[in-house]
Amino acid sequence: MMIYRSFIDGKWLDSVSGETTPNINPANINDVIGTAQLCTREEARRAVEAAYGAFKNWRDMPAPARGRIIARAARLMEDNKEELAQILTREEGKTISESRGEVARAINVVEFCAGESRRMNGETIPSELPANFAYTIKEPHGVVALITPWNFPVAIPAWKIAPALVAGNTVVIKAAESTPATAVRLTEIFHEAGVPPGVLNLLLGKGSEVGEEIVNHPAVRAVSFTGSTEIGFLIYQQAAKRGIPVQCEMGGKNPVVVLEDADMELAVESTAQGAFGSTGQRCTATSRAVVIDKIADEFVEKIVARAKSFTLGDGSDPNTHIGPSVDEKQFNTVLKYIDIGREDGATLLCGGKRAEGDGLGNGYFIEPTVFDHVSPDMRIAREEIFGPVLSVLRVKNFEEAMTVANDCDYGLSSSVFTNDANDIFRFVQQIETGMTHINSPTTGGEAHIPFGGIKATGIGAREQGSTSLDFYTELKVVYVDYTGRKREGNLY
Ligand code: NAD
Ligand code: MN
Repeated sequence: MMIYRSFIDGKWLDSVSGETTPNINPANINDVIGTAQLCTREEARRAVEAAYGAFKNWRDMPAPARGRIIARAARLMEDNKEELAQILTREEGKTISESRGEVARAINVVEFCAGESRRMNGETIPSELPANFAYTIKEPHGVVALITPWNFPVAIPAWKIAPALVAGNTVVIKAAESTPATAVRLTEIFHEAGVPPGVLNLLLGKGSEVGEEIVNHPAVRAVSFTGSTEIGFLIYQQAAKRGIPVQCEMGGKNPVVVLEDADMELAVESTAQGAFGSTGQRCTATSRAVVIDKIADEFVEKIVARAKSFTLGDGSDPNTHIGPSVDEKQFNTVLKYIDIGREDGATLLCGGKRAEGDGLGNGYFIEPTVFDHVSPDMRIAREEIFGPVLSVLRVKNFEEAMTVANDCDYGLSSSVFTNDANDIFRFVQQIETGMTHINSPTTGGEAHIPFGGIKATGIGAREQGSTSLDFYTELKVVYVDYTGRKREGNLY
């Protein structure tokens, strides 16, 4: 059995706390994969100090040289692609094809960031004075804290670590409690690629202790967080007291809008994939279908048939379409929301309970669930569930569809199904989400395209793509006067 430790200043260290948590396969709770040693606040401080000590040398290395190390990490990830995918499926529960997709995405991001090391360009700005000009330089912050969730435990750490390091920062990352194995493997890979001791430190431990410690440590100069809105807002408040930059990517309640002329098969299939794929545990998962009344009966009938057609099971079985919820807590949360939906008066059309059957008894499986006649004020229309649960909201027309789609605290992703060009552009203009998709699922993204949300989903700069270094750099402005003489008059 594996033992997972924290990685501080280039060494894997036994925790002083002696406290451990088991890493459990959510498809089969008898499969205990390993034990994570939980570190303490004291060890968190040591990690920050190590990162602080390593900063100057790392910053002073030319960016393309840092990029070379990051490119090597991408190659090592490629070499270990299948192993990473297997670990991911076993500890998080997603299907092996979803895991392979996640690992591929992570590799793409790391490759992209390695390339960005040769494009850390500033600008030159002609002055209003003769023989003067100004230019800008992108500089790292120093030590950055990264805090990540369990649902994309390879891709999200990768898409924070790679740009942070390319930009010249040193990193302390606090990985999610329920997915330590992928965090450890990824850290090993960056270390093997040549990231020097202290430049990348991994902490395994509780968010409320170790996470809080690094957010509030005076040597930490920026915090990038992905996770729930509750914790993201807390971190934002704490960081505000020290005036340091924060980037939070948080919850979602992503709608699809299905208009009257939609390609019904496409809308149904995309909604089903978005709602039930990855067991609904994507931040970009579809959780609301806003459907024009006239076509709602047909939509609902088809989506229920599709929901019932999925095979649930252990993600390592290639025939499995949908894996389990990640752990007991998440499993109970989803069941609780299903009860709330019933009590609030929504019509349960399928699912709504723990899945039973061959090989499912030892895992956290929930049947794909569809609620119809959900109204915008119901909790299942407003709160993130993070499970295979779809709420159908029926509306009269385009205007009402937009009102309902936007009547939500969150603003991550969305999609519209229609072939009317005017409606497509009206939708794009009016929808309140950071990303939107036309005639395709709410999920997905590409390494070279910015990613993130607005409203209660997003704080700070977008991650990935052309914007990936924005959060991890500060701008320094330099004025150059090459007249060689004293300036006449006043400059403001
Ligand atoms: P979470 O907020 O419970 O935990 C996220 C991380 O924060 C974990 O590492 C946790 O240990 C840490 N943490 C907890 N309390 C802390 C504290 N007081 N101080 C510092 N750190 C603390 O979220 P989760 O359950 O792991 O992940 C699921 C959530 O992540 C969902 O809400 C999902 O929508 C969101 N998510 C968002 C995106 C996005 O890009 N918008 C992507 C993936 C997941
Ligand atoms: Mn696990």
